[in-house]
Amino acid sequence: MSSQIDHLLTETRRFAPSAQFAADAVATRELYESAAADREAFWAEQARALHWHTPFTQVIDWSNPPFARWFDDGALNVAYNCLDRHLDTGNGDRVALLWEGEPGDERRVTYAELTDEVKRLANVLEGLGIGEGDRVAIYMPMIPEAIAAMLAVVRVGAIHSVVFGGFSADSLRARVDDAGAKLVITADGGYRKGKVSPLKPAVDLALADRNGSGVQETVEHVLVVRRGGNDVEWTEGRDLWWHDVVPAASAEHEAKAFPAENPLFILYTSGTTGKPKGILHTSGGYLTQAAFTNRVVHDIHPESDVYWCTADIGWVTGHSYVTYGPLANGATQVLYEGTPDTPHPGRWWEIVQKCGVTILYTAPTAIRSFMKLGRAIPKKFDLSSLRVLGSVGEPINPEAWMWYRNVIGGKTAPIVDTWWQTETGAIMISALPGVTETKPGSAQVPLPGISIDVVDEDGTHVGNGNGGLLVVTEPWPSMLRGIWGDPERFVETYWQKFQKQGFYFAGDGARLDEDGEVWLLGRVDDVMNVSGHRLSTTEIESALVANEAVAEAAVVGASDETTGQAVAAFVIVKQSYLAEHSPDGLAQSLRAWVGEQIGPIARPRDVYIVEELPKTRSGKIMRRLLRDVAEGREVGDTTTLADTAVMSVISAQVR
Ligand code: ATP
Ligand code: MG
Repeated sequence: MSSQIDHLLTETRRFAPSAQFAADAVATRELYESAAADREAFWAEQARALHWHTPFTQVIDWSNPPFARWFDDGALNVAYNCLDRHLDTGNGDRVALLWEGEPGDERRVTYAELTDEVKRLANVLEGLGIGEGDRVAIYMPMIPEAIAAMLAVVRVGAIHSVVFGGFSADSLRARVDDAGAKLVITADGGYRKGKVSPLKPAVDLALADRNGSGVQETVEHVLVVRRGGNDVEWTEGRDLWWHDVVPAASAEHEAKAFPAENPLFILYTSGTTGKPKGILHTSGGYLTQAAFTNRVVHDIHPESDVYWCTADIGWVTGHSYVTYGPLANGATQVLYEGTPDTPHPGRWWEIVQKCGVTILYTAPTAIRSFMKLGRAIPKKFDLSSLRVLGSVGEPINPEAWMWYRNVIGGKTAPIVDTWWQTETGAIMISALPGVTETKPGSAQVPLPGISIDVVDEDGTHVGNGNGGLLVVTEPWPSMLRGIWGDPERFVETYWQKFQKQGFYFAGDGARLDEDGEVWLLGRVDDVMNVSGHRLSTTEIESALVANEAVAEAAVVGASDETTGQAVAAFVIVKQSYLAEHSPDGLAQSLRAWVGEQIGPIARPRDVYIVEELPKTRSGKIMRRLLRDVAEGREVGDTTTLADTAVMSVISAQVR
């Protein structure tokens, strides 16, 4: 059987950049030319935009694939690059963080202030015996101290493992144990959905007496920021208040240089397809690509832009595009603590207006939830400062892209749909604003210096107009260096499939259009096989979202006696539609709609109207759980689900 994926959807809308935007853009067409002429020299040049204590002479060592070493004989300090360097160039007074607390409090933190805090904290960490190679777990709300914690850990050469603050004590414990963390940095609690969500109690639970569990306790101290003001228990000798120790520490701290390949952080994947993997990143190559991509893809002009990436630091987007990329570039950015709908559903747009945000980087799940609520909400705010919009995390359906452009972007702001993964460390495929003519729904082109292909099961290029498996064909600076503690799983998961060719297998399906540009088709595990046709989830979902009634859709293949698999669709209906129509008969008309839009083969056998979809905590749809429902099976592992109640609601609705 062919491994190619059938292509059903045709999208012909195109948006060229304005001449003015192109003239002012950071990115240029020459970037592609210079990368094509000499890839290694190109990355060396990007790396030299950083400060190296010891300049590198080697660019890449790929003598032992898949274990790459980038800029191996160079040495740098990642925190120095994000902080001290900007003071040296006279930008200490520039605001680094425009922090907005959920209850309405605010803080403005300059580069000089953030540097001061990080230096003090670095001294505290060293006083606690934290140094090169030690692991520190960070379990915090979105407050300036969280960023300071990440930077102080890497400043002293240690490795952080940020655990999303919405995770349970069990998930935290698993991550603390996997990494063997010596220190946990946390807060008493943080604000979420209008109330204090406790964190320290979960840390206490995670570290509670484990006699007999067979796991050795590695954590020596817990450092706690006061944020929520909630009561917390205290373990004398182990627990320390941040406000007791950090202000009292010296503000003198010299950033030592560490080798380019020094481990920087461990971060677990979202767990959309299964058990999260502890992805390991290192220093020089990672920072090079995070900073470069942030600059050219988001079009950062640090002296004038107000940038806002809405991701939590618990995800890779929060690492590369909240902490490392923007701070290495000396940008001014918004950091928001809470949820988008607190205390009202226009909160994000209120922040855009208040802070004058010029660049917004968010996820399709957020855009679709705003679509569900309707355009009247964003329309109440002045969003005219926005000039670049970004999307990451899932394929963005063309209609969601158009809504983003028209309603949020004032019909002018270019949209960059950025494809990448925890494993890739930084953006790999994206338009460059000011250079690329954009296409709704397509991630488009590999960045300069990145080599991508779409291949069949044998590793052969599929050719334009065809779908297959997305691979990266050459090593890249911010590539993962392994899975923490599991080198075999690293090789097996990403490199075994195309071992002969030496390709990295991303696990995603993709298609090349007639121009050779890339359209993501969803995860390979989710591809459906209907009467011998291999259908992607993304295209059918996009057809559903193109219907005026639908805000969001998820499709899965459910076993079927006649066709092998049949398409089962779960859809969320827009509130504006429900205000004027009855949902009776909608399922039937959506089946017909998909048939008309993209062909009878894609017509869903079942359409279920639901109120919620199962999502990971970072907002990605977990289709494997819907497959269980559609096939009438017991629902599988739901531990990475944001809201575990959602599956019983959906199961009840389907029955
Ligand atoms: P796990 O690997 O544990 O299942 P995950 O893949 O959801 O979790 P992440 O690393 O956060 O963990 O997500 C990367 C994945 O997100 C990509 O492989 C792809 O499926 C999807 N993705 C990210 N950005 C885009 C995009 N712009 N277009 C399409 N898909 C995207
Ligand atoms: Mg993944």
